[in-house]
Amino acid sequence: NPASLVGVMMNLGEMVTATQSVSDETLKLLADEMNFILEIVSPEEEDRELLESFDIEFGEDEGGEESLVARPPVVTVMGHVDHGKTRLLDAIRKTNVVAGEAGGITQHIGAYQVATEVNGEDRRITFIDTPGHEAFTAMRARGAKSTDIAILVVAANDGVMPQTIEALNHAKAADVPIVVAVNKIDVEGADPTKVRGQLTEFGLVAEEYGGDTMFVDISAKQGLNIESLLEAVVLTADASLDLRANPEQDAQGIAIESHLDKGRGAVATVLVQRGTLRVGDTMVVGDAYGRVRAMLDDKGENVEEAGPSTPVLVLGLTNVPGAGDNFLVVDEDRTARQIAEKRAARERNVRFARKGVRFSLENLDEALKAGLVQELNLIIKGDASGSVEALEASLLQLDVGDEVDIRVLHRGVGAVTESDINLATGSDAIVIGFNVRAAGRAAQMAEREGVDVRYYSVIYQAIEEIEAALKGMLKPEY
Ligand code: GDP
Repeated sequence: NPASLVGVMMNLGEMVTATQSVSDETLKLLADEMNFILEIVSPEEEDRELLESFDIEFGEDEGGEESLVARPPVVTVMGHVDHGKTRLLDAIRKTNVVAGEAGGITQHIGAYQVATEVNGEDRRITFIDTPGHEAFTAMRARGAKSTDIAILVVAANDGVMPQTIEALNHAKAADVPIVVAVNKIDVEGADPTKVRGQLTEFGLVAEEYGGDTMFVDISAKQGLNIESLLEAVVLTADASLDLRANPEQDAQGIAIESHLDKGRGAVATVLVQRGTLRVGDTMVVGDAYGRVRAMLDDKGENVEEAGPSTPVLVLGLTNVPGAGDNFLVVDEDRTARQIAEKRAARERNVRFARKGVRFSLENLDEALKAGLVQELNLIIKGDASGSVEALEASLLQLDVGDEVDIRVLHRGVGAVTESDINLATGSDAIVIGFNVRAAGRAAQMAEREGVDVRYYSVIYQAIEEIEAALKGMLKPEY
């Protein structure tokens, strides 16, 4: 029982309370002491093992090279608020009434596919139709890779703004190539050259300046250069990614959005990543399952099947899955139900157990010793760019030896936001707030996700505390 465990811990010299989360190391110590064999598994591993117990492998294409066929890139639009993400997504839909498919897109399902011609070839592109990077990072935080390429929208009259930087840092952290759409070139005072110059500082160097990032000047409002932008997406995909999938296997992918519809029950938009999804298939999506009763495409039309990179609205699930949940088709209804039930049970456990922390300054030391991390990832938010830069510079100068790298994943002026917490969750980072607080639901979210957020108002205090934690972790073990 908890009380006796606390007693054992005390004998081991660790003061803990019955409800406190402890590090993996401490758990191991406890297990040894009590003659248990302890095995620690991550949620991802656990899910993989669960699926393996049903002889299912998730995330890999079946068959060899010869079974792989080219698939369209999946694209997310990111950028600062009001720079034109929504307008651009609309413009792309409009300009691109797929040749021969009159009527256009009538249904918002969270993603759509367009056709374009590049070098005389018909090419398709799938857009995730949720502007902003919240969805993107939320999915990534859960380990789901949804996006191949990010379009970074920057308004030419406004230039690079805090969320521009935030967005590009998210994309970089996820290793997603960026195409820059310099928007609003129709506006007076638009200065696309300045945008190029500004982004150079963040490692996005335009091709015309000898870099490898494609910049396209557009006006989402006037529908200007939308085709060139699509072409840039295709060319970037061709240059830096090998986008292929096996269309012949049972479908797998991720849920993009979902809701409960009064008439139709649980509806979910899923993005097929490999295989082909068909009406009548039995699928599991997160902890929802069911037989696909009907599928609708982005034009609201019924479709019988959907191949790799195709988004479809699926009807027939037992309940509403979460964005970023993975989906897979299985042979039997019973298997689907069992997987879903096991996941639901696990989810309940996780929610219950997740009162603790991921990486904090306190347990970083142990995490490093255990070889769980080799770097300290930081996100720095502050009240002024001067103080943020000063803090970052001092932190990067800390003498921490060769064992650890300090990486600043993102820095910015302003409150600690949900987006910061998402980035921290996905990258096991610690968030530093300098003379700022958490905005909106960021604090709750940090609490729920177990992200360590530290607030300081004096630079040297921040430096001292982090140095102490780093020194702690570098102390030789006796
Ligand atoms: P979001 O917050 O990034 O999704 O930005 P919106 O797409 O909502 O656009 C913000 C505002 O800028 C809206 O009033 C748009 O009509 C306007 N806007 C977007 N693109 C352009 C453009 O190319 N030219 C001009 N003049 N206005 C634009």
